Amino acid sequence: MENVASDMKYGKDVRLYDMSGWIRACFQHYNDAHFHLQQDVQRRFFHASFAEAATTLLRDGAAYAWFLFLASSGAITVGEFVLACGAVASFSTLVTQISNSVGQVMQAVPPLDRMRAFLDAADEPEPERPAAPPAKDVPLSIEFEDVCFSYGGRNPVLSHFSLRIAPGEKIALVGLNGAGKTTLIKLLCGFYKPESGRILLGGTDIAAYRKADLYALVASVFQEATILPFTVAENIAMTDEGVDRGRVEDCLRQAGLWDAVCRLPRGMDTGMTSVEEGGVSLSGGQRQRLLMARALYKGAQLLFFDEPTAALDPVSEHEVYNGFRELVGSKTAIFISHRLSSCRFCDEILVFDGGRLVQQGSHDELVGDESGLYHAMWQAQAQYYAEDRILFA
Ligand code: ADP
Repeated sequence: MENVASDMKYGKDVRLYDMSGWIRACFQHYNDAHFHLQQDVQRRFFHASFAEAATTLLRDGAAYAWFLFLASSGAITVGEFVLACGAVASFSTLVTQISNSVGQVMQAVPPLDRMRAFLDAADEPEPERPAAPPAKDVPLSIEFEDVCFSYGGRNPVLSHFSLRIAPGEKIALVGLNGAGKTTLIKLLCGFYKPESGRILLGGTDIAAYRKADLYALVASVFQEATILPFTVAENIAMTDEGVDRGRVEDCLRQAGLWDAVCRLPRGMDTGMTSVEEGGVSLSGGQRQRLLMARALYKGAQLLFFDEPTAALDPVSEHEVYNGFRELVGSKTAIFISHRLSSCRFCDEILVFDGGRLVQQGSHDELVGDESGLYHAMWQAQAQYYAEDRILFA
């Protein structure tokens, strides 16, 4: 809710969908609730303070009255009376301090319990005898052996799934939404574990790699990846120390963003937020190119791209795909794409449906299979391109 009010990017929707009245009403609602809560807290605080003052008055008042009686009846001297009054005042202060401290400790216990539970939570165990990471710069094979996976025991996303991708192959994954393409990539990255079966990278079960070694093997561009509020160079190197500027430039060139970065006020040292002076925010297509440059800079042996060109215009997309084989080099790479025409550069296209591999082959082979899902998807897209031609004719 706070984001809607403070983040500029929501401004378009707020205006176009005439949401200002609704959002204001929501704020009013939360403000009212907050106000009532504050009133309640103040009321309780007042009651507690009143009870404390009344108790102190009764306790101290009774003691002073008793000492006064003793002094006036001659049972104690004036000096003893003064001493006793001082003792009561000190005792009263002590009792107040103790009750305040107990109150503060009671308030701190629940957050501390949560903090302790967090600190005590076990790290994901590392393998007892971790596998040695594969040699650098060697293309790796990918294998799924009879893998079953579901999110939290719900409907299976992958069921007895097997697949082998040879070292250095460029593979495209296509299919309808929800077919399980992104899940496959997340499993390969080690973010989730298969319920049964094995996933092997370079012939070794990924469960046998240390997490850090596995993450070093993989570079992914996910659609929801984040651009951090640092400079362009830091966003690519993902550190502010020892940034290899020459390498950043190479990766930006390969991703087709170098010219645009040169036009920024401070080049690759320009900040990536529109709120700082001289800072910029990138267009959707530029963001995707920056994320590609980040993946290249990492120098991982496996590259995964989840719709890397969805935000690019058709001309830029064509350029990127033309250069993709060069971009990826000899590494094994998987692309997820909804635009079937952009999959042609891949060695093989895998068609997913409901977590199953239903077709596999080159673009021409798959288009030729008129009973297949790929042909149906191709026809649906071709229809739009035909309409485009009519519109632009
Ligand atoms: P695709 O990439 O082919 O569109 P996904 O792999 O994202 O498909 O999703 C496959 C299925 O898994 C879908 O039914 C989706 O709703 C479900 N799913 C994806 N991510 C999660 C998640 N984090 N928790 C629960 N279900 C998920």
